[in-house]
Amino acid sequence: MELRTRLWIGGEWVDGSDRFPTVNPATEEVIAEIEEAGPEEVDAAVRSAREAFEDPAWRDMDPHRRAALLWRLADLVEENLSFIAEIETRDNGKPSFESAKVDLPFVVANFRYFAGWADKLSGDVIPVSGPFLNYTLREPIGVIGAIVPWNFPLNIASWKLAPALACGNAVILKPAEETPLTALLLGELALEAGFPPGIVNVIPGRGPVTGQAMVEHPGIDKIAFTGSTETGRIVMRTAAGSLKKVSLELGGKSPNVVFADADLEAAARGVTTGIFYGKGEVCAAGSRLLVQSSVKDEFMERLTERAASMTVGDPTHPKTRLGAIVSREQHQRVLSYIEAGISEGATLRTGGRPATVDGRGYFVEATVFDDVSPDMKIAREEIFGPVLASMAFEDLDDAVEQANRTIYGLAAGVWTRDVGQAHRFARGVRAGTVWVNTYNRYDPASPFGGFKQSGFGRDLGERALEEYTQIKSVWVALD
Ligand code: NDP
Repeated sequence: MELRTRLWIGGEWVDGSDRFPTVNPATEEVIAEIEEAGPEEVDAAVRSAREAFEDPAWRDMDPHRRAALLWRLADLVEENLSFIAEIETRDNGKPSFESAKVDLPFVVANFRYFAGWADKLSGDVIPVSGPFLNYTLREPIGVIGAIVPWNFPLNIASWKLAPALACGNAVILKPAEETPLTALLLGELALEAGFPPGIVNVIPGRGPVTGQAMVEHPGIDKIAFTGSTETGRIVMRTAAGSLKKVSLELGGKSPNVVFADADLEAAARGVTTGIFYGKGEVCAAGSRLLVQSSVKDEFMERLTERAASMTVGDPTHPKTRLGAIVSREQHQRVLSYIEAGISEGATLRTGGRPATVDGRGYFVEATVFDDVSPDMKIAREEIFGPVLASMAFEDLDDAVEQANRTIYGLAAGVWTRDVGQAHRFARGVRAGTVWVNTYNRYDPASPFGGFKQSGFGRDLGERALEEYTQIKSVWVALD
């Protein structure tokens, strides 16, 4: 495989209407100039996807064959894993450890998981009154526009593509401007796997240009979006124009709750990875720590020690666990939140400064704030960086109340040895995922998505199939 920089439409590389650079945030070097899809290229991608979707070669394809193509795509990603992982690390700044050992293996597993569903989509026979047979067919929606963020570029792309393809749709994928490279490789691999040209199209570009044109385009039947809550709102408003379907996986301010009876060492480890994995650029990052007051001092000691040992490093080094922030802009944004935390009176336990590796790069130290109050900016807003805001709670009711004191509801973690308390917390918290004595666990089989302003719809698992199919009810008179 080689680096690709043009648009992937209808199984061919084509030029865009503009160009933009993609930068390695660890070195600040431009990796490549990428072609951008303007409204004309978006329209070409829609025409190509629509044609491919309507073509009997895809429409009437045996579902076993669709499954085989998804398996083949998984194999191809696996065969090229080290190259793709290296590109992901260069484009995003995440450690190679994460790209090669976590993200890409998940992509492979995800395509395999949904390959298994391709030939198992069925409707129901429904007992209705009168001499009628009523049954349902589960049909693809049509052309899916997948708009994905920069934090898990290929991973989240696969969260949309795998179920969409398993269900027989055509896809137009728009990666984030900051991280377009691996998505382009996936487009090429999909053709090699045997998907007909036009079934998978990849069109990089800036959100307000390419993304906006996709959401406005009447030829796209559904937008599957992951990104910020703010942009999710724009997407939903714009989609109303053509009444296209939308599913939105948005931001979070997820609580990680440590009870006094927890295994505090395990909890300290889990809270550390819960916020610093992926540099904290994780929608489900455990960015609000709630610790029961009786163990707060002891726990904060342990946690601070762990956080202080998480030093930034060259993302390509196999031992690095804290890479570079994705872009100069995001770096500034994270640092401005740290400034806000300090000026609003939170206690800075560790970190708090920008960093570089060999004098370059957009790094930020692993940062822990203590004595945070719920009205502070760092307690309320999604920072999307390696910054933890810590608070105390008294009992279960207080923990649930504080955990829910947010507009978001993506995920939550709880650490306790009391099984009843764990389940009561899990029921009480308004979040789409709850982790008990663990954090950041994912599996292609387990649904993921938000409550409240963290969005709606679910990625992954059987539940994702509903996002990419629609139900047709068929009535047959028997007399
Ligand atoms: P966005 O939500 O803007 O980006 C997500 C995707 O939407 C990208 O592909 C982006 O394109 C695209 N997009 C942007 N504007 C539009 C639009 N008007 N119509 C259609 N698509 C659009 O995130 P940002 O990159 O701007 O990051 C800003 C903040 O959002 C971060 O600091 C973080 O707090 C949060 N965020 C949250 C994520 C999550 O999963 N919860 C993921 C990413 C960011 P492009 O990048 O090319 O502009």
